[in-house]
Amino acid sequence: MLGLSAATILALIIGLQLIGRLGPGSDAPGTATDGRTTDAATSSSAGSPTPTDPPPTAGAPSATPRPKAKPDRPNRSLKGNSLYAVDLDGTQVRCGITVRPAKPPVRNADLAPYLRSLVKCLVKVHRKPLAARGFTVTEPRIKVYRSTVRAACGRFDQKGAPAYYCSADQTIYWPASRDDGREAYTFARLGYTALLAHEFGHHLQAVTGMVNEYGRRYAQAESPGARYQLSRRLELQAQCFEGVFLATVARSIEFSAADRAELRIWHGFTGDEDPPDRREPDHGTSAAQLRWLARGLDSQDFGRCNTWNAPRSEVK
Ligand SMILES: [Zn+2]
Repeated sequence: MLGLSAATILALIIGLQLIGRLGPGSDAPGTATDGRTTDAATSSSAGSPTPTDPPPTAGAPSATPRPKAKPDRPNRSLKGNSLYAVDLDGTQVRCGITVRPAKPPVRNADLAPYLRSLVKCLVKVHRKPLAARGFTVTEPRIKVYRSTVRAACGRFDQKGAPAYYCSADQTIYWPASRDDGREAYTFARLGYTALLAHEFGHHLQAVTGMVNEYGRRYAQAESPGARYQLSRRLELQAQCFEGVFLATVARSIEFSAADRAELRIWHGFTGDEDPPDRREPDHGTSAAQLRWLARGLDSQDFGRCNTWNAPRSEVK
């Protein structure tokens, strides 16, 4: 699996369980973060395009100057990515999607078609604004699986996480039966929508080149602590991207104060600190997850999602 031109592989997760801890069970080779929250396995080849060097750190993300994007040659780095120039503030996109709660779960046979309809909306929201900055937003594939599945990033099973993203094959892997259980996301009306938006957030990190630099940095990190911090920045950024999307389709999905409250409750169970045993600090605390989600929700501005320039205290 790692055979593909020395692919650097990462597995990220958003493991949202109300009860029970996911074991470190993810078999995904090259997993950057294992266990519960695995939701994205990303891969970049050693021969990948070299991102430009990140600009000097500008302190808080809000203080980050907007990169001057040249559509023909976008900045593909983590800190200075041209994506940060995309601000959807005030934009509302209608996709005609139907919000379906995960309780009762969508029938397994209907799950993939439903998730695909959501993905089409995610692509619709992002394609044009990112094209203006030189990025091509492809449509990730959806693979609903039972038991285990072999991806370009490795093997996923049903235990590791509610969903995975693999950048090597640009596919979102969705275990068929997770929504029958007690995953925290299944208790929110927007569970499917928001979780898929998070996974799509990793896809955006892939198509904007950020995953390449992430993979390189991850491979070079000299301590578990450094790797965890990279993982948290990646995951919290996906939270922020999720927020941008939800806000941009807010009218269409009838996003309400109750939905926001449910998101809060959901993420109250997904922090690295809860429960304290067998949890790895790879996704951030509940407070950090909510803060970055809110940044995206409240601003619709990718420029507010620069976790890579944020001080460490913001990505705990
Ligand atoms: Zn994730």
